[in-house]
This record gives sequence, structure tokens and C-alpha cells, in this order.
Amino acid sequence: MSTQRTILHCDCNGFYASVECVLKPELREVPMAVAGDPEKRHGIILAKNELAKGYGVTTAETIASARRKCPDLVTVAPHHSIYKDFSVRINEIYRRFTDLVEPFSIDESWLDVTGSRLLFGDGKTIADELRRLVRTETGITISVGVSWNKIFAKMGSDYKKPDATTVITPANFRRLLYPLPAGDLFSVGKKTADVLASMGIFTIGDIAAAPEAELSRRLGKAGRIISRYARGLDDEPVRPAEEEREVKSIGNGETFEKDISGEEEYRRHILPLAKTVARRLRKHGLKCMSLQVTVKTPEFRTIQRQAQLDMPLCTSHDICRAAMDILRKTWNMSQPARMLTVTASSLVAEDMVTEQLSLFETDSAAVKKREKIEKTVDSLSERFGGNIRLGMDDKKE
Ligand SMILES: [Mg+2]
Repeated sequence: MSTQRTILHCDCNGFYASVECVLKPELREVPMAVAGDPEKRHGIILAKNELAKGYGVTTAETIASARRKCPDLVTVAPHHSIYKDFSVRINEIYRRFTDLVEPFSIDESWLDVTGSRLLFGDGKTIADELRRLVRTETGITISVGVSWNKIFAKMGSDYKKPDATTVITPANFRRLLYPLPAGDLFSVGKKTADVLASMGIFTIGDIAAAPEAELSRRLGKAGRIISRYARGLDDEPVRPAEEEREVKSIGNGETFEKDISGEEEYRRHILPLAKTVARRLRKHGLKCMSLQVTVKTPEFRTIQRQAQLDMPLCTSHDICRAAMDILRKTWNMSQPARMLTVTASSLVAEDMVTEQLSLFETDSAAVKKREKIEKTVDSLSERFGGNIRLGMDDKKE
């Protein structure tokens, strides 16, 4: 049908691990995984290469558990800013075919190529060409789903990987997707799947067959949404990402009336700086992946210390803690300072990191909770003005 849209969903295969293998080709020859903080026992697997996959190593499991399956597993620490660079380059390739490119996470994007078909061919042709271009120009393989809506395109990119194109059409979607477990449908999480199971709904086909009113009654708005998704009725547009963000870093500094010294005093002065930085990050819908602390000594010596963060941050609590970590590791806080600056950089759109964030199992619940609290405070301050105090800010680390 010519009135139908052609939507692509492109998903980089084992993104972090693939980038590491491009940087160090010898890693292709061994089972390897990118893991958060390999020094700690609690580090978890963020991505793995095909060899590690062959041993049954899975994303989000602990390093310890992965090593039990694959004792020779090589782990490397993540390099977030390099992944970000690859992501930018890959999205630039997508934009050669359409300006309607919507990044969903660091390694996934939707493309609306409806208007590009005359020029470049049908969805499958464009998808195959994209796979070839991304592979030859960046060394990364992608899987592409092609369909008439975003949900089925996304499911298509999951259907076969690595380096594959799956076309989901009005003629084949029931055959391909309806046997899949209900939890495989976009937006159906564990909780929803449990409710569905209690209603005798186990597959995507079951969701499609269930009366929408019944799903709405049990699941509210989500019920209606998944019913529409399962029947191929999603009509959400592909929303192009904003142009290159102008904000490259967000910093805040203060010169003190009296020199400060000692960890406690440093912390007391870092906190309000972190608070301002965090509030401004959230205002722009950004998170930072690296942080810099600048110390000016009474002799006007300027010391700059920077660190990549384990996970993208946007709360005052976490930024304060990270800044203090940097100082503890790289600066002797018994030395006096007359000025301190906290600067957040490697900024990423908040919505681009949501998915990666969920991989940081151990911290993410606490961090998310703090984000929620601080965002509530943001909106209260906006409504009522002035400074709303956060109880948890008073707690010691
Ligand atoms: Mg991926």
C-alpha cells in the first residue's frame, strides 16, 4: 500500500563490545565482555561479543556468574565517550537517507524513510544498504527491522541478529510475531506480563485477540496501548532528534571569603555547586558522563581533575558524591582551596540513556529514586519559587 509508512528500526549488535573490538581487533579472537567496574565483584556485563555469547554469557548478569560459564572471559571497562562518538557517526549515516531519525538509546534509532523510497528503493533495500554502510564505515554490525509502524520495526530488529534485516508486513506479522511471548511486545514489562498471565494471556497473539476493553479494565491506559501495538495500530510518528545540542558542558564555581580545607569543608562547598549543576542538567533534559573538579589554591594555582562516570548522572547527590570521589583520589583535601568549580561534560540527552541505565542493576533503583525526588523538587520550586530543601542533602556520604 502506497499510503503506508516505511519505518526502520536500527539496532547496533552488542554495541559496547563491538566498539571495543573495533578499537582492539585482537578482542575479536577471545570471548570478551564490557563490564561495569571489573575490579568490583558486583560488576555486571554490559555487552559481550559473539564468542562470549556462545558460552551463554548474558547482558546484565554479574561478572562472577559470567566467569562460571566462561572462565577465560576477558572483561574491559566501558568507554562511554567513545561509544557516544560512534553513536553520533552511525546516526549521521542514517541521516543520509532521511532527516527523520529518532535515536531511542545510544545504539538504537528509528528512521521514517517513507519519503526516501523513490530515491533509494523500498524499506528492505534501504535497510540492507544501511547495514553495509555502517559495517564498512564503522566496523559495527546492525540489525534492522522494517515495518509500517515503530513498534513492529523495533520487533523486527530484534527478530534476527546480528547483521540482519527483517521485514514485518501486514501479510506476515501474525505469523512472525503472534507466537512470541507477551513480554516480548514493546512496553510489556514483567509486572504487566504477570497481570496478562493471570488473565490467560501468554502470547502477543493472545493480546491482539483479547477485547481491548478488558485489557483497559485490568491495565488502564497501558491496556489500550498494548492492544493497539499488538494489532499493528501504532501510529506514533518518528520524531527527529534536536540538532546538535549547544550546551557542551555545565559548570558552577564559587570563590570563598575564607580559604577552606579538610574533607568536610570541601564537601559542604561542593554540595551547593553540585546542586546547581544538577538542576541545570535536568532543566535541559541532560545527563553527564564525565565530571571535572577545579581547585584554585590560595597561591592561585589551578588544579583540574576529570573522571569518566560509571553511569550518566543528573542529581545533586550523585554529582556531589562523584566530585568528592575525584577529589579523594586526586587531591589532598587537607590543602587549602580558595575556589572550587564543578563542571559536568560529555552531556547526553536523558531519553537516550534510559535503556543503558537499566543495565546498571545495582545502582539504578537508588539513582532513579533520587532523580524522581529531585525532579519533583524542580517542579515545586518552579511553581512556588524559592529554594525547596532536600532532606537527603543533609545526610553524610
Ligand atoms: Mg543493541
